[in-house]
Amino acid sequence: MNRTFTMIKPDAVKNGYTGAILNDIIEDGFKIVAMKYIRLTKENAGAFYAVHKERPFYNDLVDFMSSGPIVAAILEKENAVEDYRKLIGATNPQEAAQGTIRQKYAKSIEANAVHGADSDENAKIEGNFFFSQLEQF
Ligand code: ATP
Ligand code: MG
Repeated sequence: MNRTFTMIKPDAVKNGYTGAILNDIIEDGFKIVAMKYIRLTKENAGAFYAVHKERPFYNDLVDFMSSGPIVAAILEKENAVEDYRKLIGATNPQEAAQGTIRQKYAKSIEANAVHGADSDENAKIEGNFFFSQLEQF
C-alpha cells in the first residue's frame, strides 16, 4: 500500500461537488487516511505551490487557491500516486479523459477541481504540509 495527497479545490467545493468527488475517490478503491476542510491564506497557497513560482500563472493560482475553502486529504491505495493521477485526468479538463474527475467537475485549466501529488516524494511532503504526524492514521 502507498499514499498520495489530494485537495478538492475551491471551485469544486463552491460548486457543491465535494461529496461526489469523495464518492468517486472511495469507489475507485482509495482509503481516506486523513482529511480536513480549511481555507488557505495567500501565504499558505504560495508556499504550497512554490515549485511554480516562476510560472506565469503563479499569482493567479495563489489567489484562486486561497479564494475559498478546500478539502485536503491523504489517500491510500496500491500504486496510489499513478492511479490517482489517472482518476483525476489531464490538467486541462478539455483534455481530460471521459469519466475522470476533472472531465466531470472542472471548467478551466486553473479551476480544475482537484490536485493530485505527482510523485511519492511530493505526496509525503504535501501530506506533511497539511497534517501532523498524529493526524495520519
Ligand atoms: P496539480 O498539481 O494541481 O495536481 P497538475 O499536476 O495537473 O495539477 P501542474 O502543472 O502541477 O498541473 O499545475 C498546478 C496547477 O496550476 C494546475 O492544477 C492548475 O490549477 C494551474 N495551472 C497549470 N497550468 C496552468 C495554466 N497554463 N494556466 C493557468 N493555470 C494553470
Ligand atoms: Mg502538479
